[in-house]
Parts: sequence; C-alpha cells; structure tokens
Amino acid sequence: RAKALGRGRSAVFDEHMREHAMRLLDLEADLRRAINRDDFEPWYQPIVRLSDSKVIGHEALLRWNHEQRGVLAPGDFMGLGEDSGLIEQVDWMLYQQVAMELSAGGEGYVSVNVSPRHFRSADFADRLLRMLDVCGADSRRLRIEITEVALLDDAPRALRMLRTLRDHGVLAQLDDFGTGFSALSYLHNFPIATLKIDRSFVAGLHGESSPESMAVTRAILALASALGIETIGEGIETDAQRLALRDLGCEYGQGYLFGHPVPATQRG
Ligand code: C2E
Ligand code: MG
Ligand code: MG
Ligand code: MG
Repeated sequence: RAKALGRGRSAVFDEHMREHAMRLLDLEADLRRAINRDDFEPWYQPIVRLSDSKVIGHEALLRWNHEQRGVLAPGDFMGLGEDSGLIEQVDWMLYQQVAMELSAGGEGYVSVNVSPRHFRSADFADRLLRMLDVCGADSRRLRIEITEVALLDDAPRALRMLRTLRDHGVLAQLDDFGTGFSALSYLHNFPIATLKIDRSFVAGLHGESSPESMAVTRAILALASALGIETIGEGIETDAQRLALRDLGCEYGQGYLFGHPVPATQRG
C-alpha cells in the first residue's frame, strides 16, 4: 500500500519535474534562437538632474522582442540566461547596439548593466574598450552599472578592471545601492563615480515618509558626499519623492515620473 502510494506520488512529482524541465529547455532553445535572430534591443530610460529635470543621460535596459510572447523584460528570462551563461552573449549584443547608437551622435551618457558573473570574466574591460573603439564610440559617453557583489567577490581584480575602464573614460555606477552587503568601508577604495539609491528606499519617501527610508537615504547621501561620489535616486514615481530626494541633497534621479524605458526610435 505504502509502496503504491509512494510510486503514485513520485509519478506526479516526476511529471512536474518533466514539465518544468521542458519549459526551461523551451526557453533556453528560444533564447538561443533569439540570439541568432538578433531579437534583443536596448530600451532607454532618462536620468535627470533633480534641480531642473534636465536629461543628463540614459540607462539602457535590455528588451527581448519574443516572436510569440511580445516584449519581455529581464525579469522574465534573466535567471535562465545567467544559469546557461547565454546572458553574456546577449549582453555583448546589447553593448554593441549601444555603442553603435553612441557613435551616431547625440548627447549625454548611456549606462549599461553588467551582471556580477559577467564582470568576473578576465577580459571584460579590454573587450569593452575594444568594442567601443571598433564602433568609433566615445568611451566617455558609456558607463557601466554593477552591484556591490561584483566588487566584493574578487576585490583586487575588480579594482584593476574599474581602474582600466576609468582611465579610458568609462565610469562606473553602483546599482541598487543599499540592498547589498553595503560594507561601507570598501567603497572609498574603488573608483566609483555614482551611487544609485535603490528604489526600495525611494518608495518610502513621500508625504509621510517612512523614518527608515529617510535615515538610509540620508546616510547614503552623506557617505557619497564625503567621498565625492554623485548620486542617482532610482524608481522615482511621484513629485513628492522627487522633492524629498532633492531636498536631502540627491543630485540626479530616474523613474517613471520622468520617463519610462522606450525604444531608441522613441527617445526624446
Ligand atoms: P536595474 O538596473 O536596477 O534597472 C532599473 C529597473 O527598474 C528597470 O527594470 C526599470 O524599468 C525599472 N524602473 C525604472 N523606473 C521605475 C519606476 O519608477 N518604478 C518602478 N517600479 N520601476 C522602475 P527592468 O528594465 O525590468 O530591468 C530589471 C533589471 O534587469 C535591471 O535592474 C538590471 O539589473 C537587469 N538588466 C536590465 N538590462 C540588462 C542588461 O542589458 N544586462 C544585464 N546583465 N542586466 C540587465
Ligand atoms: Mg541598472
Ligand atoms: Mg538599479
Ligand atoms: Mg533596482
């Protein structure tokens, strides 16, 4: 009896696993096909100066134009991409498009996201600089966004990489700041141009601001100011958040209030 039950259960379980595996395989096959077809493109979201809303740059955000499922954002497929290593290929395709668009002219910088795993590859900096060169893009107009993890897991190597990039004009922004290990003491060792204050803190800044969000935001801004690092508030959706950040001394901002990510053709 117990045996029969056990077998029944494991049959159900196996069926589940099989479906899950099939879905993943599907998505992985999709991803490979999409790479061959070049179905990825950067969408651009403005980064503005909070004092007067002047656009100073854009963040390039990856979008997948999926044949059946429409436009997909990283959250829909990134986990898989990272596991299979395919995301690095997709990233390079995206950086290439950004570099081509930079070489066509325009103003301000464009920042691209680099996953920690990708940042760990030994030739990342050289390859990025070579690509900019080949595309004829001004390296001072490209920035990279990395997270704290990317700095911490091999600090000496990360430091070399960031120095090489900075010496060639490519500045680094620390993304989602405040959500990682935030070992504040390491920060001054690295050539970081910008801290991006994570959306979760910005969400708590409004009419009746949450004291915790206020405190964390204040602390990040004080730290950045002491180290001569610029700051961008992420995920600003309301005017109250914009004003709160501005009054706390945050210089730049990004969020739906100023503009959603849009394809290059719709970029103002
Ligand atoms: P992130 O770098 O922190 O990018 C900001 C995310 O917040 C974007 O989501 C953006 O669309 C969203 N966002 C912007 N303003 C607002 C707002 O006012 N409210 C809310 N609720 N959300 C806002 P997205 O495009 O889905 O990207 C998610 C994450 O995927 C990014 O977070 C980044 O970590 C990663 N990612 C995006 N593009 C790339 C890429 O080309 N390569 C790699 N490796 N990762 C990427
Ligand atoms: Mg980012
Ligand atoms: Mg971010
Ligand atoms: Mg974020």
